[in-house]
Amino acid sequence: MRDPNCIFCKIIAGELPARIVDEDERTVAFLDIAPATRGHTLVVTREHVADLLSVDREDLHAAIVASQRLAGRIKQRLGADGVNLVNSCGAAAWQTVFHFHIHVIPRYEGDPLRLPWIPAQGDADEIAAAAAQLAGA
Ligand code: AMP
Ligand code: ZN
Repeated sequence: MRDPNCIFCKIIAGELPARIVDEDERTVAFLDIAPATRGHTLVVTREHVADLLSVDREDLHAAIVASQRLAGRIKQRLGADGVNLVNSCGAAAWQTVFHFHIHVIPRYEGDPLRLPWIPAQGDADEIAAAAAQLAGA
């Protein structure tokens, strides 16, 4: 399925330009137009689905394997020191394009990116309460 108003569907269809760097049966990868660091790549599913919660499991598998493939190339060919995989699911989680994608972000020693949270000791009871809500099927 494709969405005629979706930027990523248009890129996949060749209707919008993009720097495509990898393709397989289920995914396409291209460079982000507003890169966090040099080589910032987006792995998108060929199928238009909004987000992590709606993506088909086989497509999700293909997207994570493609992300691993890109991470390896990013380290080898761009000389990155590390890689972050980022997925934003929902507007509250910073998602702006509602076609499932994984950001593959090269990391370089001394680059300006920072963790988006401040690590600090949590409340043990509250952690246990969250665990109780989340545990199980
Ligand atoms: P997110 O905010 O997680 O939904 O990620 C969407 C990403 O798509 C952002 O990092 C944008 O910079 C990127 N983006 C938007 N339009 C384009 C485009 N035409 N080509 C490449 N990347 C794009
Ligand atoms: Zn789409």
